Amino acid sequence: MTNGDIVKILEEFAPPYLAEEWDRIGLMVGNLQAENSGVLVTLDVTPEAIKQAEDEGANLIVSHHPLIWDPLARIDEGTMRGAMYAELIRKGISVYSMHTNLDKTKGGINDRLAALFNGKDVQNDGLGRIFSLGDVTLKQLAVIVRDTLDDDTVFAVGDPNKIIKTAYVVSGSGGSEYARAKEVADVLITGEIKHNLLVEAKAEGFCLIGFSHFASETIAQEILCDALAPYSINIIKAAKVCPFWRLDEV
Ligand SMILES: [Zn+2]
Repeated sequence: MTNGDIVKILEEFAPPYLAEEWDRIGLMVGNLQAENSGVLVTLDVTPEAIKQAEDEGANLIVSHHPLIWDPLARIDEGTMRGAMYAELIRKGISVYSMHTNLDKTKGGINDRLAALFNGKDVQNDGLGRIFSLGDVTLKQLAVIVRDTLDDDTVFAVGDPNKIIKTAYVVSGSGGSEYARAKEVADVLITGEIKHNLLVEAKAEGFCLIGFSHFASETIAQEILCDALAPYSINIIKAAKVCPFWRLDEV
């Protein structure tokens, strides 16, 4: 099986056309014709993930977050990113990224989040998912989000006792969907919400639940591994590395 054959399997699961126009997905570096020796699956491409791929004999890394975002003017090995790009090319390790197509696909990240939060009648909507809840309060829903994601950074805006019938969830960073969420739901659940949006939502009486970008997307690894599981592929889970530590961990 070549790296390209693996990409075909992944693209059947999360077709590239689902990705947002501004997104950067697909082959980031490497060779799709190369015979595959193993796939390391990770949320982020990091120096540790590259080392693990090399140590465990994987010549393809599949990541959720795109390896290369801004167009490159140079590859300077004196920088963290330049060193990673050079290392990947030297070691013959390819990188393929699935981003908003993985968020949006059936069984993708947003579907998994809706299921974790006990969502019913889950529907696609732009970047996120709308789902119904059996009359929980905002506080109860925030507790469900905290407990299911094991995320002690969860916070909420709005009346804690407000009954939430419909929620709108966007994995990662979804403050851009605020206006849409207001039209169709009682709460927007997302990450990296800017302070001014918190202020606006409070003034408008609209509910928000904020989670950490990492906690909402670390499930990307399981989803991608599940998509590859039916095939005879050497699948390696990257060691999960949250970039920040929590006070209860140190
Ligand atoms: Zn993300």
